[in-house]
Amino acid sequence: MNERELIIIGGGPAGLAAGLYAARAKIDVLMLERAMPGGLAANTEFIENYPGFAEGIDGAALTAQMEAQAKRFGLEIIGADVMGLTFQDGKFTVKTDEEELFSHCVILATGSQPQMLGVPGEEKLRGRGVSYCATCDGAFFRGKEVAVIGGGDAAVGEAVFLTRFASGVNIIHRRGELRATKVEQQRAMQNEKIKFVLFNTVQEIIGQEEVEGVVLKDTRTEATQKMDVNGVFIYVGQKPDSQLVREMAELDNNGFIITDDSMRTRQPGLFAAGDVRQKLLRQVVTAVADGAIAAVAAGKYLEEIGK
Ligand code: NAP
Repeated sequence: MNERELIIIGGGPAGLAAGLYAARAKIDVLMLERAMPGGLAANTEFIENYPGFAEGIDGAALTAQMEAQAKRFGLEIIGADVMGLTFQDGKFTVKTDEEELFSHCVILATGSQPQMLGVPGEEKLRGRGVSYCATCDGAFFRGKEVAVIGGGDAAVGEAVFLTRFASGVNIIHRRGELRATKVEQQRAMQNEKIKFVLFNTVQEIIGQEEVEGVVLKDTRTEATQKMDVNGVFIYVGQKPDSQLVREMAELDNNGFIITDDSMRTRQPGLFAAGDVRQKLLRQVVTAVADGAIAAVAAGKYLEEIGK
């Protein structure tokens, strides 16, 4: 069956929550996910601010529960990469790498991708010491020295995680103050393996076959120095995966989708949920809330158009 009432694109927490609410409401719903369901949260080692888990929970376990819960109510998930999305004569056409599907509404929950630093050596050494995922690659750096670039929650949280393997972790941040929440900062500051290199930017990642070091520039003095490291973990923010709807929805200057409180975009029938939206707080707790609201709003839209 290639026509559905609702297609959800993206299977992170926002998409899974939308799928749960839609399936429970007996909406004819299909989820398309190009990788494993769970999104960015599934690659987060430990989540301690999602309510309901007093001792915290690892991200993969949390999202696996979300997936099982949605499937229990009948959510169908298929692995597919969505290449195009168009709207014509009251219907969306969702073009995947394998087929064309049709639906009356779409919830876009595609999340975001790691922002690249954009310095020489980054592309060349990606996967050879340059990583955007400590949970995936941290164990390769047992007993080695690594650098973590950025000062947000991701950088500081993942730096602490990396101390399980690395002999030393250098957090390189461009300002004198970290952006991360105080509790993350304190945990990092109390960890003897972590060193902070503040007021510094990375000019270049060096190495022939594998990362051998980084060239740092002090933002106050402009002096440069080389730091020897075997791994560089880059956490300088996220960029939204909103290309599919750039003609249909309104985007802000950074590419995040602008919605109203009901997750509606300016295209009737098209909703956005989770990290891909313009919003104040990008966390699992807000992603699942967006997903639930989008599914309810999609249900109302289907009623309005007589489905
Ligand atoms: P973020 O909060 O946007 O932080 C990005 C960091 O990278 C900032 O410190 C920023 O510096 C720095 N940066 C940006 N561009 C840079 C560049 N070109 N060169 C050097 N440094 C650069 O991103 P995030 O840490 O990925 O977090 C994204 C969202 O997920 C946030 O809302 C965060 O709270 C959330 N999150 C939460 C948790 C948690 O609660 N445990 C874990 C992970 C992520 P400036 O500070 O100078 O701008």
